[in-house]
Amino acid sequence: MNDCNKAREELNLTRGCCTSCHEDFDHGYITNFCTITAKGKSYEVCCDLWDEFAERQQVARRTDTEYASNLRNDLKILLQQAYLAGFNATGDGYNAEYPYDQKGQDPEDDTDWCEKRNEAIKSIMGETK
Ligand SMILES: [Zn+2]
Ligand SMILES: [Zn+2]
Repeated sequence: MNDCNKAREELNLTRGCCTSCHEDFDHGYITNFCTITAKGKSYEVCCDLWDEFAERQQVARRTDTEYASNLRNDLKILLQQAYLAGFNATGDGYNAEYPYDQKGQDPEDDTDWCEKRNEAIKSIMGETK
């Protein structure tokens, strides 16, 4: 089977065909082209189209990774805000005393406080130390 043209049309591939693959196939030296699986279909294509498709998959995967990493950063910021809100909601976390508020301080300026917060967030997000 040779689905090069079909694959080019349906998957918007732009590269031309590999001549030696097609010659080998026509002479019966190879019986199978490379198989692309996309959109619920399989396509038998020569190596150049297969390469193009593989490169595109690589790019897609890299984009997914970047997206996931941005999402994790956004989540981290949200968790920091939630941690601070929770802390403030429970009387600064110290028996209804407000050591930060009463001194006009921000807990986020306290290195120890931030360290505890970061540890908590790491463990919530399943990050190892
Ligand atoms: Zn081809
Ligand atoms: Zn080839």
